[in-house]
Amino acid sequence: MPLTELTAYQLAQQIKTRKISCREVTNEFLSRIEEVEPRVKAFVTVLPDEARRRADLLDKRLAGGEDIGLLGGVPVAVKDLICTRGIRTTCSSKMLENFVPPYDAHVAERLAVEGAVNIGKANMDEFAMGSSTENSAFFPTRNPWNLNCVPGGSSGGSTAAVAAQEAPLALGSDTGGSIRQPAAYCGCVGLKPTYGLVSRYGLIAFASSLDQIGPIANDVRDSALLLQAIAGYDRRDSTSINRAVPDYLASLTGDVKGLRIGVPKEFFVQGVESYVVDAVRAAIDKLCELGAEAVEVSMPSAEYALATYYIIAPSEASSNLARYDGVQYGLRVAEPGDDIIAMYSKTRAAGFGHEVQHRIMIGTHALSSGFYDAYYLKAQKVRTLIRRDFEKAFSQCDVLATPTAPTVAFEIGSKTNDPFSMKLADVCTIPVNMAGLPAISLPCGFQNNLPIGLQLIGNLLDESTLFRAAHAYEQATEWHKQRAVVEKS
Ligand code: GLN
Repeated sequence: MPLTELTAYQLAQQIKTRKISCREVTNEFLSRIEEVEPRVKAFVTVLPDEARRRADLLDKRLAGGEDIGLLGGVPVAVKDLICTRGIRTTCSSKMLENFVPPYDAHVAERLAVEGAVNIGKANMDEFAMGSSTENSAFFPTRNPWNLNCVPGGSSGGSTAAVAAQEAPLALGSDTGGSIRQPAAYCGCVGLKPTYGLVSRYGLIAFASSLDQIGPIANDVRDSALLLQAIAGYDRRDSTSINRAVPDYLASLTGDVKGLRIGVPKEFFVQGVESYVVDAVRAAIDKLCELGAEAVEVSMPSAEYALATYYIIAPSEASSNLARYDGVQYGLRVAEPGDDIIAMYSKTRAAGFGHEVQHRIMIGTHALSSGFYDAYYLKAQKVRTLIRRDFEKAFSQCDVLATPTAPTVAFEIGSKTNDPFSMKLADVCTIPVNMAGLPAISLPCGFQNNLPIGLQLIGNLLDESTLFRAAHAYEQATEWHKQRAVVEKS
């Protein structure tokens, strides 16, 4: 079996026992990238030299008898909004096209400590705004299962890289669904951790009260492994939770006896395709066969989550993105004789794409005096209602099961002129961010050879139960074993 078909866990084991070297593994993935990347286009920057140098260093340390960490020698693709020292970090925006961070994000430091090899920076929707990766200022990424389709977004480069076996693992970020929805579209396992579990230090901010970094993998064990490597307290993020990180791999017991699965009826309504409903219901039945029990729950406020998100996220974005003014870093556009206002406006007009400008305008409006109470404040109140719905649901069950997305991946270009239907791709994922909860998406079927995603939502800091349920389901099914065959165009 080619090394690129092994899981990250298997790779790490084989490297540790010296069956294969870090250099071999890195080389295999780099050749795979060379082979399929011209068609998939998952990366903004591939790092062949850096990756090989790093692999050699790890091999040397291994030869010297050192423990090289949980991910020792495993290549990881890193979404291009995670700062990497000395390596261009673009956010897939012209604004940051030539930005080279002088520091590493917390998660990049964690990857280094645990022996991972950064193999490249993954494409995304500009500033993580979008659901298809078509908003990248550079190029769209394609879905490895069908090159005419989008990989989802905004972490579409990360999920496409994992699905196309260009990397066994990837990091993404999720503000309203950006890990889970592309994971569903690409047949990956994608987890959004509890807000505060993974430090946001060095993550280029979109909507700070919602943003969270998480793992993308081919199976649940690999997802648990990568979360283990990146989770934990960091004093540089004021929202970081100071608690011991559980042993996630130990939660993969296969046992779901007595686990109560809540099925919120509001997530199975119009707009969700019947093939998605059928696949998700069959997955719930499967979990029940394994000993879990299903209970119907109700979340009456969930239907307002999308509207609420599109007030809160743009408001926070308008504030976060004010820093891109051409003064300190990033793009500057100015003619001789321009005053500072002319420089600001020329820089921002040239540096931000359409969707980003659109969101900044909505957010600035929602926060402006006279409108603040009607929009932002109201949205925060609705957010509390959504959170209470979840609290109530979790008094009746241990995990919730829903679709991840209402459809499978759609064709490139088919929704670019229909922003509303694009935004509907996140109806099932956004409520989770509003409440800061953890949720995982994993494959539960196919429609027209395109993967369907099952979303399991957990209670705060209860990633272990999510992994346990997801793993039990995965081991009882075959979906995760199917791999995309990248067509030769
Ligand atoms: N698709 C949603 C948006 O466009 C969510 C993005 C995200 O989670 N970063 O805002």
